[in-house]
Amino acid sequence: MKNDTLRLFFALPCPPQLAEQIVSWHDSLQLKGRPVIPANLHMTLAFLGQQPSSRLADLRTLAATVQGAAFELRLDRLVRRRNGLLYLAPSQPPAALLELVERLGEALLAGGFRLEERSFLAHLTLMRSCSGQPPPDCPTFDWPVSHFALLASETGPQGSVYHQLQQWPLLRID
Ligand code: ATP
Ligand code: MG
Repeated sequence: MKNDTLRLFFALPCPPQLAEQIVSWHDSLQLKGRPVIPANLHMTLAFLGQQPSSRLADLRTLAATVQGAAFELRLDRLVRRRNGLLYLAPSQPPAALLELVERLGEALLAGGFRLEERSFLAHLTLMRSCSGQPPPDCPTFDWPVSHFALLASETGPQGSVYHQLQQWPLLRID
């Protein structure tokens, strides 16, 4: 049966307007590599990998129990790894982001999901197989984070396509 398993991850989807700004700045750098399209810009919070679709209901239920505060995410570092991964990152990951990742991770573990053992790295991938030298300076991109989402990733002819299955609000503390 088709779709009896799904490749799932929790993420912060980048708001479309900010994604366009980031991509138009990134395009202007004219780096060589495989750029991520604006619709795919996101920050992964927890990667679940291939999961039976029958687990979706449990995932939705446990995500609804995860309480987190809304926060401002300031992306102000451009990093290129030796493997060619180019990403934006916050030089100071907000405490609310780290708390959200921790609470989500705890809820997933309690729900019987196995998680990545590597520690969380707050990053937003811009390009893969980047061969050019990125500039030392990076503009600052401010992202008001107000919800997190569960996404399913599919491999299409043009690369990965993400489908947002559900999103949950983060609490605004004024
Ligand atoms: P592609 O693999 O086609 O280049 P992609 O990496 O965007 O595209 P997925 O592999 O489905 O698509 O991954 C979805 C998200 O989960 C991405 O942010 C990816 O970096 C992250 N991810 C993938 N595999 C892992 C993993 N083993 N551990 C942690 N995060 C992962
Ligand atoms: Mg991948």
